[in-house]
Amino acid sequence: NKQVVLQRYIEEAPKETDMAMGMGKIELKAPKGSAALLVKNLYLSCDPYMRGRMRDFHGSYIPPFVLSRVFFSHLLDVPIEGFGVAKVLDSDDPDFKPGDFISGLTGWEEYSLIRSTWQLRKIQPDDSVPLSYHLGLLEIAWNSSRNHEEVKVDGWSEKEGKVGGWIEIMEKLGMPGFTAYVGFYEICSPKKGEYVFVSAASGAVGQLVGQLAKLHGCYVVGSAGSSQKVDLLKNKLGFDEAFNYKEETDLDAALKRYFPEGIDIYFDNVGGAILDAALLNMRIHGRIAVCGMVSLHSISDPKGIQNLYCVVPKRIRMQGFLQSDYLDKFPQFLEHVTENFKQGKIVYIEDMNEGLETAPAAFAGLFSGKNVGKQVICVARD
Ligand code: NDP
Repeated sequence: NKQVVLQRYIEEAPKETDMAMGMGKIELKAPKGSAALLVKNLYLSCDPYMRGRMRDFHGSYIPPFVLSRVFFSHLLDVPIEGFGVAKVLDSDDPDFKPGDFISGLTGWEEYSLIRSTWQLRKIQPDDSVPLSYHLGLLEIAWNSSRNHEEVKVDGWSEKEGKVGGWIEIMEKLGMPGFTAYVGFYEICSPKKGEYVFVSAASGAVGQLVGQLAKLHGCYVVGSAGSSQKVDLLKNKLGFDEAFNYKEETDLDAALKRYFPEGIDIYFDNVGGAILDAALLNMRIHGRIAVCGMVSLHSISDPKGIQNLYCVVPKRIRMQGFLQSDYLDKFPQFLEHVTENFKQGKIVYIEDMNEGLETAPAAFAGLFSGKNVGKQVICVARD
């Protein structure tokens, strides 16, 4: 069972060499009485939040990855955990049967033994929605009715188990489509005709925020880190304008160029210098949705945020959020996005790498902007 393992805890931005390919053993059946599923992993999601689990730091809302564990007196590597789409090969849970497709928390490996109490979702195959889109555009639906008790089987337990078993974490982890939806509608309080700025705009979250804002009747500008991404934003994703922030020597001047009347809504995926410049350009009663600070994982900006004072005279509402606080909105999200996607009003850009071996480089690439769209790894197609 080929696996991707984390070699060591890190402090800086992740590098490909922080991870390695390993080989684990797995019995290709679900242990009796375990309520577990044996799955073949098909698509794996690369998400910036996973960087937080590569630090040896327990004070966050999410614990670090486990590097290895003792299993029947053997020291075994533990694969990186992440969201994936998988096919059920064997099941000890009556709700799932071999041949079902599921999305949920799994391991970065070919086959995984996972628990259905980890909020797995059965995917109904639909020819108009590729399976991998369930990692970005449509993603996991939470089923809070399932029980969360820990089950121990043959030395394999949910808490120490192969795939961690941290149910609470899953409920906090953001997946892109829903994050974009709740961030935009619940945090930004958008109104038709408002001026919206989105950073990391071609990424998994950003691309949907911009499109939702356009559907809402807003004027939308995105920033991204290459001319290819800028082109996608303007010509495929329907943004009104877009610019390459890496080519701008003065971000404040760039924002003044694109928003001569100021910004009503800034959807912040990056923090750092772009947030600082956006603060200067917000309109009175503007809203900033602080979705993530991916820039903090890489370049350290010695100046930090200088312009926070703007929130007072401009009466800016600046709010961080986790999509997990809005799970009751999930049905509306699914309906809205699926309908618009099927009608061709929402497009979705995915960056698919082939093969489990490509996962470390693809993950590290999130922090230098190598991904164009939602980064996914194809482990197997069926
Ligand atoms: P993306 O697909 O947008 O990939 C990350 C992108 O960030 C890169 O492609 C790159 O784009 C940009 N980036 C990387 N380093 C920097 C930098 N130093 N400065 C500026 N931009 C940089 O990732 P996601 O869409 O999955 O995530 C976007 C944000 O949303 C992240 O901050 C993530 O943590 C957050 N998030 C928050 C959730 C929540 O519940 N609050 C849930 C899910 C995600 P470019 O080439 O344009 O620079």
